[in-house]
Amino acid sequence: LRILLLGSGGREHALAWKLSQSPYVENIFVCPGNGGTANLSKTMNLDHISAGDFAALVEFSVKHQIALVVPGPEQPLVDGVETHFRKVGIPVFGPSCLAARMEGSKAFSKDFMERHSIPTANFEVFASHQIEQAIAYVKSCNHKVVLKASGLAGGKGVLLPNSVEEAIAGLRGIMVDSAFGSAGDLVVVEERLEGPELSVLAITDGYTIVPLPTAQDHKRIGEGDTGLNTGGMGAYSPAPVATPAVMEEIMSKALKPTIDGMRKEGFPFVGVLFTGFMLTASGPKVLEYNVRFGDPETEAILLLLSEDVDLSSVFMASTALSSNAHPGFAVSVILASQGYPGSYEKGKTIEIAPIQSPDVVVFHAGTSIAGDKLVTSGGRVIAVSAYSPTLQGALDAAYAGVEAVSFEGKTYRRDIAHSALSAASG
Ligand code: ATP
Repeated sequence: LRILLLGSGGREHALAWKLSQSPYVENIFVCPGNGGTANLSKTMNLDHISAGDFAALVEFSVKHQIALVVPGPEQPLVDGVETHFRKVGIPVFGPSCLAARMEGSKAFSKDFMERHSIPTANFEVFASHQIEQAIAYVKSCNHKVVLKASGLAGGKGVLLPNSVEEAIAGLRGIMVDSAFGSAGDLVVVEERLEGPELSVLAITDGYTIVPLPTAQDHKRIGEGDTGLNTGGMGAYSPAPVATPAVMEEIMSKALKPTIDGMRKEGFPFVGVLFTGFMLTASGPKVLEYNVRFGDPETEAILLLLSEDVDLSSVFMASTALSSNAHPGFAVSVILASQGYPGSYEKGKTIEIAPIQSPDVVVFHAGTSIAGDKLVTSGGRVIAVSAYSPTLQGALDAAYAGVEAVSFEGKTYRRDIAHSALSAASG
């Protein structure tokens, strides 16, 4: 397996370190990489391609038979790197650009949370020309507020003003003076919450959610959590505040509705969803979503995964449902014993003529070997399955396969997928 890993931070070194331990991983190309990824046994830095040049990355990946792409930071995901690789059939462990809006736009993710009743701080969103409305809203709040530039601001787009005056000054900074550039075109003004913070990273294929050990990071530069916010000065895992009860609430009230809601709204999430929580007196509330591994949380969490965890297989499996599914249709036709589901006879000899098509598979259900013969031993005897780019093609192939199987009393339905066929022709 050859992997292309995008990014250049501690998170990417940690991912490369863990991925390189897999016996299945042959090489990891890191773009652009750093001093650490230059020196691991299986890794190689790709500094001749710009990390933002998706066309060049795709060309390189096709040429070098890359089997999996792992984007480290959010920017390539928000910029749609997944679409570029999907077009050439290379799976990406990371969300589509539509799903990446959960991080790329705080206004979008707050609206999503509201639609799905996911616990989060109360909020309002303002466009930059609505400065007067935003100021009026801040004045009307009888609680402290947090100001957030909606777009990506490198972890620096959040202000925590301590008074109404400070809040108004902050709003002017973002909305009038463009302190965060176009990331501040929309501003989320939300209720200031209190409580310990918790990072929950969960791997998902868009259906199943597997949380990794929880973590807490330290954002401030100074000891005792003082001074300016940083990208993160350290992290530890697991976080004792994440009791089983807290995790149960987080799963049922936040993670599950998020992953299910994204799928139902047509932008399923594949990859690692990093949800930041504040554990308030009234329960865990979502502060933000990140659509990738956290830095520095990853540098701690990966040390807790045992040697048996093959991260490359986990990543491949997560992408399997979405990226690796063939785009066509599959059909399975059951051949049953006469009389099924009522009483039926067993022990009928089964003959299966050779089937040439590699896209037809005969699965045995109620069969057994009696002497040197294959005989029926159940109600549902055989499933003849077929794949084709079209539904009609799959049906034709499956029913051709049905003809190749014979036993006395062979019974089957001739109308499998009829409702899909009539929907397609109607
Ligand atoms: P990063 O990507 O670096 O984690 P970010 O810029 O995406 O950060 P948030 O995580 O939303 O922004 O906020 C940064 C920090 O601000 C949080 O970790 C938390 O400490 C504080 N914060 C955010 N929202 C609130 C809130 N509603 N109440 C209290 N504190 C908050």
